[in-house]
Amino acid sequence: MTVQIAIPSKGRLSEKAIDMLEAAGIELAGRPDRQLTTTAGDGRIEALFARAQDIPEFVAHGAADVGITGWDIVQESGVDVEELLDLGFGSCRLVVAVPEDAEDPLRDGVRVATSFPNLARRYFDEEGIDAEIVTVSGAAEATPHVGVADVIVDLTSTGRTLARNRLVVHDTILASSARLIANREALSGAKEEPIREIAFAVDSVLQARDKKYLMADVQEDRLDDVAELLPGIEGPTVVPVQKEGWVAIQVVVDADAVYEKIHALKKLGAKGILVTPIERLVP
Ligand code: AMP
Repeated sequence: MTVQIAIPSKGRLSEKAIDMLEAAGIELAGRPDRQLTTTAGDGRIEALFARAQDIPEFVAHGAADVGITGWDIVQESGVDVEELLDLGFGSCRLVVAVPEDAEDPLRDGVRVATSFPNLARRYFDEEGIDAEIVTVSGAAEATPHVGVADVIVDLTSTGRTLARNRLVVHDTILASSARLIANREALSGAKEEPIREIAFAVDSVLQARDKKYLMADVQEDRLDDVAELLPGIEGPTVVPVQKEGWVAIQVVVDADAVYEKIHALKKLGAKGILVTPIERLVP
């Protein structure tokens, strides 16, 4: 049985989505600049390259069983799909931004330029503001200057584009990042297992990202102190070494704790400390 996965063919999310699948061991036979579909993994997966904007519809209607796209796009499309994983990349916020010198910008009759008309409409309805939504396909940040709109609803990550256009964030509507989504029927049918396998493999990459593998030689009589310092998943692995009275320990540690752990290990007399990245972590 083949599982179809929809992957962004270009744009901000494309390369990172492909990198993440490959890190999870799902190698793609082809690239989106050359073809529309390609095989992946051991041939039981078919990759379908599509615009990030179209992926929620593709997955909701079963053209693909799973897909990778931005949460903002999924929410704007309004389709009913299962969210399997937050992939952590493509982080941004959908915000209401107003000109920095505007007085009372969000009054009734306000004109709002956006490429997210559904989310914008819902926001202003909930706020009880009678807004006129002007749908644009991009560059919403320029519209207040040319008199097309008074305020905008747009994505921001660094805030630089807003600042350059002398706009300030008034409110955040949605926090977004890339997600792995699935078709609900596929997930409750015969394809459930291969879909869960894909999610599991990708999750093992996510788990590994924040971790490092640490190895060191320590004196056997300091093992209790070392174990307390390095709890690991099930305590450190202890391996015999030739040197009398010494052992090697191996343990998974949080990446942001590595610096501190090395320092403490040195104080306990550890030698030959080695820190390596982890490709995948399957607890
Ligand atoms: P694309 O138009 O194909 O480049 O993809 C746009 C998608 O990338 C958005 O819908 C978001 O999910 C994501 N993204 C992440 N950061 C930003 C940002 N600062 N501006 C626009 N899109 C972003």
